[in-house]
Amino acid sequence: VAEDRHITNIQVGLGCDRNCAACARFFDCTSPLKADLYKAPALRKIQKRLADIKYKIAILSGKGGVGKSTVTVNLAGALVLRGAKVGILDSDFYGPSIPTMTGVRGKRMSLTEDERGMLPVVNNQGIKVASVGATIEEAAYVTWMGDELRWGLYSFLGNTIWGELDFLLIDLPPGTGEETTNVMKAVQDLDGAIMITIPSDISQVVVGRCITLCQKGEAPILGVIENMGTMHCPSCTKSIDVFSTGGGKVVCEKTGVPYLGSIPLDSKVCDASDEGIPFVIKYPELEASKIFMGIAREIAVKIGYLKGG
Ligand code: ADP
Repeated sequence: VAEDRHITNIQVGLGCDRNCAACARFFDCTSPLKADLYKAPALRKIQKRLADIKYKIAILSGKGGVGKSTVTVNLAGALVLRGAKVGILDSDFYGPSIPTMTGVRGKRMSLTEDERGMLPVVNNQGIKVASVGATIEEAAYVTWMGDELRWGLYSFLGNTIWGELDFLLIDLPPGTGEETTNVMKAVQDLDGAIMITIPSDISQVVVGRCITLCQKGEAPILGVIENMGTMHCPSCTKSIDVFSTGGGKVVCEKTGVPYLGSIPLDSKVCDASDEGIPFVIKYPELEASKIFMGIAREIAVKIGYLKGG
């Protein structure tokens, strides 16, 4: 392997025209030159694209399926109801679900007139959505690997033109592995991070890893949201704790991270997601919506968008 690497480096050194972006051997190239020639300008381009956005907030979860995307979409909906201009960056290259949840599935990000950038898709509530799911066919998601994923991400972030935004909510890939850290490193100056967990013990453990990741990435932690907490049975008055109870609060007490609230498990949350309408907009009168609205307000105050009191 070392020898192969050496040969590739020599080949690249000899034939290299220093134009990584247009190079056919880009993904095979192991030359350290690539990092100097391509990575630094790519990161600079991303910073430039994101520079005019007032607040960039990352949404993390240590595990998949706990409702990270659902919470992202509903916080976006709640902020829009408060008059904010909001975008969602779906940075999950393997399982992008934001297009479905915001009702733009099947729509494609379009090229700008000068063909030098891509415009997000705008949903019915005015939420701007950039997702790899809005650039390529669904069947193509599965094949991103290693370097391809990282450079694909850089290109995606560097070429998306958001326009004026108050909030960019970044739906990170699940877990705390390379995929997630790549996005955090590329976006850099995050204004805040929110962690999503379900109440069970297992999920709490992984929140600890998310906290460590945020500390390493210097992302200010806004707090933990517990999702799929107590469910109220629709046919009797009983409350059911499907995924145990209180885990979000426990993890906050242990770590000193702020607790933002608990969203109940409600089948209408799921139905609204499948329908592509943020739950908070479709059912503003329901308990879960009121909690989402309260959390969005708290975040907006913490970050400085709204005045407290
Ligand atoms: P993640 O982004 O963490 O993988 P999703 O947001 O895709 O998770 O949610 C997984 C599934 O759970 C989706 O079908 C979603 O509609 C459903 N879901 C999420 N939160 C709730 C909730 N509070 N009540 C009912 N269903 C929910």
